[in-house]
Amino acid sequence: REDDRPLRVTILGATGSIGLSTLDVVARHPDRYEVFALTGHSRVHELYELCRRYRPRYAVVADDVAAARLRCQLRDDGVATQVLAGEQGLVDVAGHDEVDVVMAAIVGAAGLRPTLAAVHASKRLLLANKEALVMSGALFMQALRDSSATLLPIDSEHNAIFQCLPADYARGLARAGVRRILLTASGGPFREMPLAELENVSPAQACAHPNWSMGRKISVDSASMMNKGLELIEACWLFDARPQQVEVVIHPQSVVHSMVDYVDGSVLAQLGNPDMRTPIAHALAWPERVDSGVSPLDLLRIGRLDFQAPDERRFPCLRLAREAAQAGGTAPAILNATNEVAVDAFLTGRIRFTQIAGMIEHVLQCLPRTRVDCLDDVLDADARARDLARHWLARE
Ligand code: NAD
Ligand code: MG
Repeated sequence: REDDRPLRVTILGATGSIGLSTLDVVARHPDRYEVFALTGHSRVHELYELCRRYRPRYAVVADDVAAARLRCQLRDDGVATQVLAGEQGLVDVAGHDEVDVVMAAIVGAAGLRPTLAAVHASKRLLLANKEALVMSGALFMQALRDSSATLLPIDSEHNAIFQCLPADYARGLARAGVRRILLTASGGPFREMPLAELENVSPAQACAHPNWSMGRKISVDSASMMNKGLELIEACWLFDARPQQVEVVIHPQSVVHSMVDYVDGSVLAQLGNPDMRTPIAHALAWPERVDSGVSPLDLLRIGRLDFQAPDERRFPCLRLAREAAQAGGTAPAILNATNEVAVDAFLTGRIRFTQIAGMIEHVLQCLPRTRVDCLDDVLDADARARDLARHWLARE
């Protein structure tokens, strides 16, 4: 910490599940962290409450109309927060000169530009928004190397892997003696449901995760295991691993958050209660450690830890993601964009849960995978995939 002053933190997606957990940890350490900017998109009332409580310098909402309304409300309450709007507002608070730390916790492709803005401005970036990295992997990692930004993974699996790797892992996994990464997955709410019943599951069932409480999109992704597929791609970029080096292991208790298998036979794991405040506190304070508010792990109460192989017939999204990882180029961006459209269609009752994978497979087959040389290549693939996915929906 410079001059021992508190670090100024921007939270992109402050009104979401990760955003609120971040505020919880930050508020435990007023000597270390100060809230600089909070963003909330369409959840304006929630953002208003957060502004009253945390008094950030800036708040960002979706558009000018919402911004004008929030501005008036805050002024009436004597809160001096300045209100910005739209993607430019997000980019501004992510790259602002006075910011030290950016939590990227917007869900989906909408977070790409603001997250990249934090990289370009050389911030300490806490990355929860896995979709941004999945879409733009090579460009994202190049931008990191070209800046002096520090990336700390928030996804519990990647945070665990980071903690189990040596400090100089960026020099290469082979050099570090790593054989494999073991990515653990809970298996979600449908791990044991008879296959024939999957067709009729409701959004509420898909969002009722056994171990974690999360936003609706990632909850559906966990139920389909697309979340693990996106995480496989995320791990390949973060740790410079080949897709074959990342093995998915189902572990229903969600206590082992992931593992690293070394050539000498050692396997290092990070364990903890399933509470995102642990990886958030780890990334905020790294390389130091601070209290996160998470209760100590009680292994005697948990009793046993189980592991099993994932069944790709039950979870075809996992196979699709692995194929996209292997294909490279725009394939991960196409996979991600179609999945976003499919999940939204499922949540709004337009398709069945089991149609998510079919829709993604269809779009991946129709759109040729191309090279990625610049951000426009990624945005173009994202837009074409969404068009094709909506077309598919209109036909169903
Ligand atoms: P959430 O739905 O609870 O919150 C999403 C946040 O993004 C909200 O603040 C919302 O206002 C904002 N947002 C939504 N659409 C937006 C848009 N178009 N433009 C700008 N802002 C927008 O989601 P979450 O569960 O907090 O997940 C956030 C990210 O973190 C996701 O990428 C998810 O995959 C990742 N993640 C979440 C968890 C978890 O436990 N919740 C764990 C690991 C990774
Ligand atoms: Mg995860």
